[in-house]
Amino acid sequence: MGMPYSLPLIGSCMCGAVQIDVTAPPLLTLACHCRDCQKLTASAFSMTTMFPRAAFSCSGELIIGALGTPGRRHYFCKSCLNFIYSDIGEDNPRINLRTSLLDQAAAFAPYVELMTDQKLPWATTTALRSFSGFPQTADELQDLLDGYAEWITTQ
Ligand SMILES: [Zn+2]
Ligand SMILES: [Zn+2]
Repeated sequence: MGMPYSLPLIGSCMCGAVQIDVTAPPLLTLACHCRDCQKLTASAFSMTTMFPRAAFSCSGELIIGALGTPGRRHYFCKSCLNFIYSDIGEDNPRINLRTSLLDQAAAFAPYVELMTDQKLPWATTTALRSFSGFPQTADELQDLLDGYAEWITTQ
């Protein structure tokens, strides 16, 4: 079995003002069921695909929105206000892209779901791993990254 997608990955916001280009494979795919993500997406959960920061670029004007959580910035298209990606710390080598923007979004089913304590009871995903909250330690995150890297080759 090969990878269920091909590089580079391209995508765009709803209006097309923001164009996304990614040149490396994803590191992890996830769904977040927290109440903030429900409100932010006007849906049941958010979908994220994590990429190496160095492999990600986007054009177009962005603005910062959502909550001003310390160390995190959430970027939106200035024109259509579509949620684009989250910067999870300036020295973090990864960024979190919103999966729905990718042309090949179908290839990035969530491997893990987070914050199931706040999950809407009827909202289900096919994620293999599940956390009632967020992963707490670097070891837990590394375990997820390792698990995803193995799982994606079987898709
Ligand atoms: Zn836009
Ligand atoms: Zn969330």
